[in-house]
Amino acid sequence: MNCLSAVHGRFQADLNAAAARVIASGWSILGPEVEAFEQAWAARVGTAHCIGVASGSDALQLALRALDIGPGDEVLTVANAGGYSTQAILAVGARPVFVDIDADSLLMNVGAIGGAVTPRTRALIVTHLYGRMASMPAVLEACRAAGIAVIEDAAQAHGASWAGRQAGAWADLACFSFYPTKNLGALGDGGAVCCADPALAARLRQLRQYGWQPKYQVQLPGGMNSRLDEIQAAFLRVLLPALDAFNAARRQVAACYEATLALLPGGGLPSRPPEAQDVAHLFVLGHPHRDAIRAALLARGIQTDIHYPVPDHLQPGFIARARGLGLLPLSPAGSLPVTEAVAGRVFSLPCHPGLDAGQVERICTALAESW
Ligand SMILES: *Cc1c(COP(=O)(O)O)cnc(C)c1O
Repeated sequence: MNCLSAVHGRFQADLNAAAARVIASGWSILGPEVEAFEQAWAARVGTAHCIGVASGSDALQLALRALDIGPGDEVLTVANAGGYSTQAILAVGARPVFVDIDADSLLMNVGAIGGAVTPRTRALIVTHLYGRMASMPAVLEACRAAGIAVIEDAAQAHGASWAGRQAGAWADLACFSFYPTKNLGALGDGGAVCCADPALAARLRQLRQYGWQPKYQVQLPGGMNSRLDEIQAAFLRVLLPALDAFNAARRQVAACYEATLALLPGGGLPSRPPEAQDVAHLFVLGHPHRDAIRAALLARGIQTDIHYPVPDHLQPGFIARARGLGLLPLSPAGSLPVTEAVAGRVFSLPCHPGLDAGQVERICTALAESW
């Protein structure tokens, strides 16, 4: 579904030069390229600190560890966002508590946050899913009232904003992935945590490298080996200036699909608040006869996908991990009615900057014929 070589080809000379620079430098991990990228990304997001790490999944786990969250603690999240937050919460030994989603936005139902809080709740992870910004003022208000920390999972929302403020600039900590297919992607794995608090930033710098301070002296519990490579940071420095153009290209693809759907019966899409500037990471739509539409599209040569088919609380691996931690039951089947219903009807059309206008037009025609 992704045609990354078409995108990277436009930057071939600069990517080659970046790779050559790193090879000549002798630095492989956590060197000048990582520092320069961290500064550039913090400036772009609008936070004081950026800590480069090995992946978006590690960013989530390190954010929880930086807040000292572990066994006995509860963390609020959603069950429809690919499982990354749940994986991280379980990895630190805490309990994921799922808040149902809003049927229209498919994002966390902010009105349900208060009812999910218990004395053990320490934090909430809010995912800007599909490139759609959550209503951060409302999320922050609910979490402040509950006295819990907030982590943004902005791995699908590089460059998205709410009322002009970037995804990743709102919460106590914000996590990014630079997996190749993200809106800003490296040519391998990478991630980052952004934050305003210098003490949290210092903890994260220690935790990404075994908890060391200084070298070989383990000062903090919960340290990991999770470092960003120089070569990935150098590639990210090449691609970062093109982020707005990538996002504009994605939005243009999404606008064509939206125009097509507007003419189809029942083709309505979520209404988005005017404050939200989304970045079309994925183009997700819903239909009660999803499988038939997907099959008809496939017959016309169009591959689609489902983001995501199994909600987290029904994933056997998560249930087994929770059992091992003595955390069962997680939310039982039927307890997240909107999340569960939505998983049965969403699917995703190709949406990335490597698509040309002809391909998008062909997909629109096929969609209208398959509906
Ligand atoms: C991709 C993704 C992650 C995980 O990032 P990796 O770099 O693949 O570990 C986390 N959260 C969301 C919402 C994602 O889309």
